[in-house]
Amino acid sequence: MFAKVATDAALDKTFDYIIPPDFENKVMAGSRVVVPFGNRTLEGYVLGISKTTDYKGKLREIKEVIGDRPWMSEHILKLVSWMATYYMAPIELCLKAVIPAPIRNTNKGDGFQSRLYIETLIDDEEELSQIADLKLTERQLALMNALFDQGALPMGAFATEQKTTPATLRKLEEKGLVKIFEKTERRDPLAGKNFLPSKPLPLTEEQANAKKIICDAISQACDLEKPAPKPILLFGVTASGKTEVFLQSIAEVLAVGKSAIVLVPEISLTPQTIQRFASRFGKITAVLHSKLSDGERHDEWHRIYTGEARVVVGPRSAVFAPVHNLGLIIVDEEHEPSYKQEEAPRYNARDIAVMRANYEHAATILGSATPSLESWHNSNNGKYIIASMPNRASKQMSKPNTIIVDMRLEAMGKAAPPVFSKDLIDAIKRRLTTGEQVMLFLNRRGYAPHVTCPACGHTEECEDCATGMTYHIDDNRLRCHLCGIERSCPSVCPQCGCENYKFTGIGTQRIEAIAKKLFPSAKIQRMDADITARKHSHEEILARFRAREIDILIGTQMITKGLDFPNVSLAGILNADSALHIPDFRAGERTFQLIAQMAGRTGRGLLPGDVYVQTQTPEAPAIKFAATENFSAFAAQELSDRKELDYPPYSKYICITLKAESNDAVSAYADLLAQQLDSISNERFRVLGPSPAPLERIKKYWRHQISIFTNKTNLVLAYLKEAQKTLPPPNGVTIAIDIDAMNTM
Ligand code: ADP
Ligand code: ZN
Repeated sequence: MFAKVATDAALDKTFDYIIPPDFENKVMAGSRVVVPFGNRTLEGYVLGISKTTDYKGKLREIKEVIGDRPWMSEHILKLVSWMATYYMAPIELCLKAVIPAPIRNTNKGDGFQSRLYIETLIDDEEELSQIADLKLTERQLALMNALFDQGALPMGAFATEQKTTPATLRKLEEKGLVKIFEKTERRDPLAGKNFLPSKPLPLTEEQANAKKIICDAISQACDLEKPAPKPILLFGVTASGKTEVFLQSIAEVLAVGKSAIVLVPEISLTPQTIQRFASRFGKITAVLHSKLSDGERHDEWHRIYTGEARVVVGPRSAVFAPVHNLGLIIVDEEHEPSYKQEEAPRYNARDIAVMRANYEHAATILGSATPSLESWHNSNNGKYIIASMPNRASKQMSKPNTIIVDMRLEAMGKAAPPVFSKDLIDAIKRRLTTGEQVMLFLNRRGYAPHVTCPACGHTEECEDCATGMTYHIDDNRLRCHLCGIERSCPSVCPQCGCENYKFTGIGTQRIEAIAKKLFPSAKIQRMDADITARKHSHEEILARFRAREIDILIGTQMITKGLDFPNVSLAGILNADSALHIPDFRAGERTFQLIAQMAGRTGRGLLPGDVYVQTQTPEAPAIKFAATENFSAFAAQELSDRKELDYPPYSKYICITLKAESNDAVSAYADLLAQQLDSISNERFRVLGPSPAPLERIKKYWRHQISIFTNKTNLVLAYLKEAQKTLPPPNGVTIAIDIDAMNTM
């Protein structure tokens, strides 16, 4: 028998190996094995087994099998192979995405953590005295006394407490008085957290209808005679109670003996979110996220792998969780760009979820208040089933009011529009007198993004990136937000010596400073990546906000998603245009999502909520329709525009980014590749570019892009695969092919 093995090395290929007779029952598809490779040994996975091999040379034998059962199911292997082909990603990178390093590297001292325990085998002093010929020292007697009635104790701690050594304790073991043994210790990310069990809420009519649709899909998933159920788009406005529907749907899946995976964007994987799932499902809940230690991640993975944990909550990588008997995958906030991995394999976890559920005959729910136009289109054309919840869950919660503030009017008679409009200032002041809370959003951290000399025009720029340095006032430093380089801010212009450096544009630090002047009595807190870089500060700030120790919370995207604070009655978007004017065909979609998400942070309790949207283009459809919270009208308009321009969802978008330290080299190769692509396209697909990427230079690398829009994805993939051989990038030029790209920068 032969095994096809993909090793961990960057080879993007499988190799055939002989399965020695001893291993015939042990080596299966999905097994992890050790193989000889040249004069090295490598670890890898068996992707398939066959009786024959095409390889003509001399084959070698598998040396070792790691673990006693396969690490991946056949379904997952199928998913890996689909992912490698569709996203044009090396197979070993796909495997690494599925089984991350802390789980894989069991031989590097990671693995399970076990501790030594000591336990007495003798009940009491009387029993001890009956043993002949013991000759215990006084010290040993004292140690025995300390162990009676204690059960098993961690040996290290016991030794320290008794001021003795493990060697002394081993002497007791030799005399047959105690046993010393190893026990696995679970590293539990939720250790020390007590979750009060939560009971299912009686559902609203809209929730009950949605649940009915989902339950039908779950029944269909259980009936293998029927096709796998279609994905369900749960289109529910913010606070319509989608999470409660998720919870009750998971309960249905558990009741039929299956498991569920819940994907949430990393940014909304807050303690509050985790608590909602852990409170309902208790110990069978596993949590995976980027802040876990390697040990916690390893142990959580194994709890899923052994079937002990049956509800998995995590960010995009959790889509690969090795659950037993998958019944349901939920993708919350399915429109979120963070489901797309921005490095190879450049997969979208939402699309992987749909694919995986289909392979495993499971149900899928994609939840959002502002669905991606791709999913919306799929539910219009019958590929997905739609379940709508147009109202908030509780009658007491009113829909937020969206107020558009035309900043062109505010700017009249002034040199530049003010940061805060008069209307927004008044609205904030009203909240401060009634003790209600406010959230303000600006998508830029730091103090000012432009630092220039008014005398000679010199601009502080990053030497390695095509961007200006952002001024950070708290430590008086300049930082490049693309590469992270920083330096202190000169007090005089290095070019002409002028002393009046000018800081223009606004970042969250400047908003904070202005707000402190405008509202001197308010307690104001900023929350952005500069602040939350400190561990726990994110949680701390949110806890203080909940306890109403903060009146105004100023922040970047991290305050827009998923937060549920009943006392927030006002949200402000200080510059809605910054999202609208990015060079991306999804700019309108993103702006609509932002406004709806911010609106969704307000009016979640008994107080009605307002969201103020400051803009200089109030007539833009994304803003106009967001004002009336009319997603379907916005989607209809946007889809008609996309159709006309043949943009997704009417075509697939493939973004090819080429980069090199030499601008000439990369631009010459980009021209060549684009020409080739264009000449074979034969009007079957559209090639745009090459053109310099919107972020033209990052970390010394010049970047060029070629965009492809196509309905013949397989054809383009095949050609690109071919071109990698026939027209390989010259030395120093790297190519990144992003299928269904979300990031166009
Ligand atoms: P979404 O996920 O759609 O934004 P949530 O699930 O967070 O909405 O629900 C919003 C609020 O409504 C929460 O405080 C939740 O406890 C409450 N809620 C949800 N369903 C019900 C229900 N059936 N009855 C009463 N309150 C509910
Ligand atoms: Zn830089």
